Amino acid sequence: MNEFNITPSIPCILPEPFEGRHLINGVWQSSADGATFERSSPSHGVAVSKSAKGGHSETEAAINAARAAFDSGIWSRISGRERAAYLLKAADLIEANVDRIAVQETLESGKPITQSRAEVSGAADLWRYAASLARSLHGDSYNSLGPDMLGVVLKEPIGVVSIITPWNFPFWILSQKLPFALAAGCTVVVKPSEVTPSTTVMMGELLVEAELPAGVCNIVLGYGEPVGRLMSTHNKVDMVTFTGSTAVGKKITEAAGGTLKKVALELGGKNAQIVLPDANLDDAADAVVFGAYFNVGQCCNASSRLIVHEDIAASFVAKVVALSRDVAFGDPLDPRTQVGAIVTAEHNSNIGAYVENAVAEGATLELGGGFLDVPGLGQQFFQPTIISGVSAEMGIAREEVFGPVLSVLTFKTLEEAISLTNDTSYGLSVGIWSENIHHCLEFARRAQVGTVWTNTWMDGYPELAFGGMKQSGQGREIGHYGFEEFLEVKSVVMRVGRTRTSWVKPRDQKREDPITQ
Ligand code: NAD
Repeated sequence: MNEFNITPSIPCILPEPFEGRHLINGVWQSSADGATFERSSPSHGVAVSKSAKGGHSETEAAINAARAAFDSGIWSRISGRERAAYLLKAADLIEANVDRIAVQETLESGKPITQSRAEVSGAADLWRYAASLARSLHGDSYNSLGPDMLGVVLKEPIGVVSIITPWNFPFWILSQKLPFALAAGCTVVVKPSEVTPSTTVMMGELLVEAELPAGVCNIVLGYGEPVGRLMSTHNKVDMVTFTGSTAVGKKITEAAGGTLKKVALELGGKNAQIVLPDANLDDAADAVVFGAYFNVGQCCNASSRLIVHEDIAASFVAKVVALSRDVAFGDPLDPRTQVGAIVTAEHNSNIGAYVENAVAEGATLELGGGFLDVPGLGQQFFQPTIISGVSAEMGIAREEVFGPVLSVLTFKTLEEAISLTNDTSYGLSVGIWSENIHHCLEFARRAQVGTVWTNTWMDGYPELAFGGMKQSGQGREIGHYGFEEFLEVKSVVMRVGRTRTSWVKPRDQKREDPITQ
């Protein structure tokens, strides 16, 4: 029997490379200088898209279009009901195009086709949820300020938003941001990752089909330099929402500081699942395997650390190793595949280097550790990998590996488990497995993260806020908290009764009762 469950290449004819252009003020455009860039499929090694490569002039034009559209009020001042109607139309169009979008997502990212389909159809629900928020947008009123005063706090769209997205969940992360910004009444400029540009262009096509007014959603394709940088520094942009690496997130914060624009960041993670001896160990093992290998570990929410009680560590790791051998790694176009290709050859090498360093530092390789050769597709795949004997100081326990690599650490007391969990510069998500509600709650209250899962892993809902503490980010996405990120707050103070007491008194009268705040 093969050591791993590998799905070899299936015979198929790949579509012609997708041609992507910028969407600026409602018009699809090539770059002024004709520049383009190509993306090769990480699994199949052939060109799957050719995109216009944006420069200074395209980015400037897109920002100007978004600014003009915002200031004109064609989007920012229409009713929530009207905005919701566009978003609901977009959701219907996404559902009608799931297969086409999913195939391109798989070809560019290397993720399994069943996962791409689930992400694209799931994204339609994000658009629908955002539509409901557009209609329920409200502020506060203060009818308690005295007999002649009424105060209202209005929520207004923040303005022009730059949306910068990564390659690991291109369509899903776009849908965690774009419909929420649009629901709030903002206009946007979107830059997808240069590695996975096409499904964002497809979304743009659907928005054009939905007759979204020109200039409300603009798309510029290209690289961080100059496109992303200009989107972060430009004085006509009011906010940047970014998902990507912590290193680039810091650069964006610095760049945006010049104009003090708002910055919302969803960054990396070094997440853990904690397993106590009283847990349902079969469920826990399945979730640990899912958390480690989903999206081939290239996931901000990957649970790349297993922190297991030392009494059950050996048997639990054996269970996880056995389950890992059954996970189907291989051709992303095969519907049986659960784990696909690594995004680039360079990243594949980086994953290998992390494993080598951990072993050199004294950790033990329990499974995998090398490139995975998928018959018919080559080696841009990585084996399911489990490393035990990892200590909290090792690089593999602290840094985001972004591959299918699980590090095993052990603990004796809940206190020690909490301390290991929090011993990282990241603070995105954690999970705990125990049948003891007191342990789960104690852990949940003290974990320094944006999301805690108890006896489950990576369940998410449009209603629930998502985001990180510490260096995993700032601000929240989805849910009504995510929506609020795109809103400004304005207080309106109204005198509704008697004549205002004059501040200025005639010189010959004694001054009394000055108006103060
Ligand atoms: P990345 O930071 O390399 O790139 C993200 C985007 O930023 C791309 O569009 C890129 O072109 C752009 N960019 C690069 N340099 C820029 C600059 N100077 N100014 C403006 N934009 C710039 O990230 P990636 O490799 O595409 O994605 C992987 C990272 O994303 C991981 O660290 C992962 O944890 C993180 N991530 C976080 C979440 C979350 O919600 N917390 C979700 C998914 C991914």
